[in-house]
Amino acid sequence: MNIVMVGTGYVGLISGLGFAEFGFNVTCIDKDNDRLRKLSQNIMPIYEPGLTELFKKHYVNTKRIKLTSDYSSSLSKADVVFITVGTPSRRIDDEADLTDVYSVADEIASNIKKYCLIVTKSTVPVGTSRKIKEIISKKVDKNLFEVASNPEFLREGSAIDDFLRPDRVVIGVETKRGEKILKLLYRPLYVSETPIVSTNIETAEIIKYSSNSFLATKITFINEVANLCEKVGANVQDVSRAMGLDRRIGSKFLHAGPGFGGSCFPKDIKAFSKTAKKYDVPLSLVDAVNLSNKERPELLAKKIASYYSSNIKGLNFSLLGLSFKPNTDDIRDSTSIIIGNILIKLGANIFAYDPKAMANTQKLYPAYNFADDPYSACKNVDGVIICTEWNEFRALNIAKLTSIVKRAIMFDLRNLYNQTEMESLGWEHVSVGR
Ligand code: NAD
Repeated sequence: MNIVMVGTGYVGLISGLGFAEFGFNVTCIDKDNDRLRKLSQNIMPIYEPGLTELFKKHYVNTKRIKLTSDYSSSLSKADVVFITVGTPSRRIDDEADLTDVYSVADEIASNIKKYCLIVTKSTVPVGTSRKIKEIISKKVDKNLFEVASNPEFLREGSAIDDFLRPDRVVIGVETKRGEKILKLLYRPLYVSETPIVSTNIETAEIIKYSSNSFLATKITFINEVANLCEKVGANVQDVSRAMGLDRRIGSKFLHAGPGFGGSCFPKDIKAFSKTAKKYDVPLSLVDAVNLSNKERPELLAKKIASYYSSNIKGLNFSLLGLSFKPNTDDIRDSTSIIIGNILIKLGANIFAYDPKAMANTQKLYPAYNFADDPYSACKNVDGVIICTEWNEFRALNIAKLTSIVKRAIMFDLRNLYNQTEMESLGWEHVSVGR
């Protein structure tokens, strides 16, 4: 089977490599020639644990991965085409921008030559795969193709493992033929008894948005509870732990912090809400989550400023962690950077350190100062802010930090440190929800 991934970004590259690992030949298309050129020189466009090695294995050794910007030669031979381009938020109305998805549908329509299954892996609003079908059927006989939906659930930071060992695979299909092809592609997962949820296309599209919205809701719920805990002398970590031990609730995504960011949750909950409104079915809970999470960085920045009589003009802060989560260099909608930007706007100077995300930040945010390690970032600062929970920040040498900071105050937005211990070492320890 010839598999083609259109869009060689996070999802296209990782899932393409995943299918290569399953034994298939995969052609990865991208319109970004620079990205393809760098990849062909073994320079990865993103940081993801294990990516360089897996890419080398299948590009250089097994040769199961091919890279191209030429639609015609690859699509004409394709048995299955995955659409894996981005679906960002449209600035004007928060809807999912489907420009790239529809332009890929056009390319597919112009280039397929034999029966082909067109699978949407990008996260798209319900109804999009039908629209793709409409676009393609304008140029291609309906017996020569069919569409399907196969939303992707990988998480940045553990993307390869998530693809190779998923909790479940969702396939939305119109026919038994489409179902058979997709099940064949995921056959290697049968050994691990991975559940394959086979459903219609609309359901598959909704499953992806519902899952992300639910996880975002859990995070926002515990963040709001954390706000209350701070006012009444309760400890949100104990609340989370006790709640999480209830198997109906579960402990994941129940850690209070600076709010969710990243390339998926913020845009997906907005798009989900917009889609529902179109059908006159408001998702009021999702709207509340969106609003609460949007306000959170401002709330935390104000909390930080309140420790300086709400005047941080000219003060220096170290910002530890810039990526939206650990083990990635992705800074899209990173809460850390949103908070950093608010502090800069209030007149503060930011000295940032991140194990992997500094290059990406430097390109977009020239006002940040960058340090080579966490300690250099903390030299002479009026406050230390921990925003992303990289392992490197979990066991900082506090004695060393004490000797270099100007004021020993830590804003521990991920609750990595023990308050009593920090206080015994002479620090003011400001955490979340306790
Ligand atoms: P990305 O921005 O990393 O990659 C998109 C790629 O598509 C880019 O390399 C871009 O150059 C390419 N592209 C755009 N238009 C193209 C065209 N017409 N032809 C060929 N290539 C084109 O995006 P991503 O993070 O991989 O996300 C892709 C989709 O998967 C989105 O819908 C996203 O919501 C979803 N998703 C992402 C993740 C994640 O963790 N990143 C997880 C699950 C689902």
